[in-house]
Amino acid sequence: MTRTHCPYCALQCAMHVEPTGDGGYRTRPAPFPTNRGGLCRKGWTAGALLSSPDRLTTPLLRTDRGAELRPVSWDTALDHVAARLRDLRASRGADSVAVFGGGGLTNEKSYLLGKFARVALGTSQIDYNGRFCMSSAAAAGLRAFGIDRGLPFPVTDLAEADVILLAGANVAETMPPLMGHLSGARLIVVDPRRSATAEYALANDGLHLAPRPGTDLALALGLLHAAHAEGLLATGYLAERTSGFTEAWRHAAAWWPERTERVTGVAAADIRAAARMLGRAGNAYVLTGRGAEQHAKGTDTVSAWINLALALGLPGRPGSGYGCLTGQGNGQGGREHGQKADQLPGYRRIDDPAARAHVAGVWGVPAETLPGPGRSAYELLDALGTPDGPAALLLFGSNPVVSAPDAGRVRNRLSALDLLVVADFFLSETAELADVVLPVTQWAEEDGTMTNLEGRVLRRRRAADPPTGVRSDLDVLHGLAVRLGRPADQFPADPERVLAELGAASAGGAADYSGVTPHRLDSDEALHWPCPADRPATPRLFLDRFGHPDGRARFVAVEHRDSAETADADYPLLGTTGRVLAQYQSGAQTRRVPELAAAEPAAYVEVHPDTAARSGLADGDWALVSSRRGSTRARVRCRADARLDTVFLPFHFADDQSANLFTNPALDPVSRMPEFKVCAVRLTAADPE
Ligand code: SF4
Repeated sequence: MTRTHCPYCALQCAMHVEPTGDGGYRTRPAPFPTNRGGLCRKGWTAGALLSSPDRLTTPLLRTDRGAELRPVSWDTALDHVAARLRDLRASRGADSVAVFGGGGLTNEKSYLLGKFARVALGTSQIDYNGRFCMSSAAAAGLRAFGIDRGLPFPVTDLAEADVILLAGANVAETMPPLMGHLSGARLIVVDPRRSATAEYALANDGLHLAPRPGTDLALALGLLHAAHAEGLLATGYLAERTSGFTEAWRHAAAWWPERTERVTGVAAADIRAAARMLGRAGNAYVLTGRGAEQHAKGTDTVSAWINLALALGLPGRPGSGYGCLTGQGNGQGGREHGQKADQLPGYRRIDDPAARAHVAGVWGVPAETLPGPGRSAYELLDALGTPDGPAALLLFGSNPVVSAPDAGRVRNRLSALDLLVVADFFLSETAELADVVLPVTQWAEEDGTMTNLEGRVLRRRRAADPPTGVRSDLDVLHGLAVRLGRPADQFPADPERVLAELGAASAGGAADYSGVTPHRLDSDEALHWPCPADRPATPRLFLDRFGHPDGRARFVAVEHRDSAETADADYPLLGTTGRVLAQYQSGAQTRRVPELAAAEPAAYVEVHPDTAARSGLADGDWALVSSRRGSTRARVRCRADARLDTVFLPFHFADDQSANLFTNPALDPVSRMPEFKVCAVRLTAADPE
């Protein structure tokens, strides 16, 4: 029996993995502060991933488009990839090769992938799927606090709250064990849907505010207005610990509750009640999730929620605060170590000369050879195979054919590449398109570290032997780097060596891991970053000062604006997407776990019965949800508490049931986050199965 952490979300629940004796594995919860001995349904069934019959165990190669993928040796596969990469770089330059990573990769893999792109390939074209996850909160957190750590406090602090406002976070389905930390507080849930979390709030003396999709920025401004009108602002805190309130207030001053009601659909009385509940609480938190972030104005929306928290004096106060609920397992660590287009390890900016000099020194290369910032995730995917875009893509730990917006367009772009290489442990929908598929180890078959939603670094331990024929992603990067002419020890495949190098590269940065050592990890010390070698770790940030040079948090003046698409005569409804309890992200893993597949086997569209009837549909019928980009096939699930103007679909399903066939890739100007959460759609009947 081995103690490790869950393969899925950013709560990173601790679990024991043990063999069942018949070739399988089972999981059991282990004591840990985030899950306190609990697991959700996905965690309980995660052992099935380790013995899945779908597991890839040999490299696959397709020599011609249209040919079958055929098993080959590792040497054949890596030699082929390296030769093609060398040819492309020689004929079309370093940026003709792109790299796409994932927020589920360990810290070590994220770090080595960023280094591989910039040193072995010399390309600026690297980004990752975390751009689709919480980049808006990261950008807003940096603007306000100077440091982006999802929760700047341990989750156990939430137990001290009297009131918690959850903006666009359905915790009861996405992170069920976290609900135990919220149970002592009254909840204000902001969500267009009557989600499981909203139901819980209403049953426990809380509130559910259901804004029209795409209007929660206006709602946050309205709440700030109401709090101001009620005399609830923390005036002393504003003067001592913040800057910029006057300019931010100039915008919020126009959002009196009745005007806010007209735009958002939330009753003015509820806005005032929520402002009073939050503003009069002894201890309170504002927490944001994907619902606030995944908009073409996601950064400004999160800034509006942060402004509200600052106006009430919450961030940096013991027992209160603002935080973002990170989604992917290593969503936090994944964006700190250099697989993001604009960052170097330690959460450093790639255009900062001092950062470039430091990291180049650790990597043993001249700083001037490091490329600059590249394209963001969707822009990168959309450029693939175009005359000015990359001709080859190396993809690790991601399934953009299902998870990217306007997924049909992304599929076409991937199909236009000269070379697509996918490292994965299952033949995902993206791997099916690849020229080369490299079978890699998964969570419990390897050692490594993850950083959970609290910025706490955890040790993932090897609990099962990988199948014969499978290699670690670190081995893959090492093998390719050597074939591309780099010294063997420049790309170590040993995770402890990579962690030590990562620590040196991050030293002095915001996300300093230089004190994260195997010994400290094994002692169960709570290693929240920054964790310098010569100082204790930092469970709580901002108690004395924020991360800006003057130590103050900054209000950011933001204004509501319409979503990129609004409903019209042709597409009269708003389509929004989200997650369900039994599936995870693109579903590449959870759709292969029999119990989870049985619980949630197919896409559905949640819709008000009157809205369904207007399209000639009833509960259980098959429907098409169509936008200007594409159509998704889904089973009608009627709910009398659904908004009349909105349909909701989970995005975990593939092929013609992929919700991202209709989503809008309009991008946030700051974070480059696509607008997953709202677009104009219509609902029509589909042929039966
Ligand atoms: Fe795994 Fe997240 Fe479920 Fe915990 S809440 S068991 S980390 S999926």
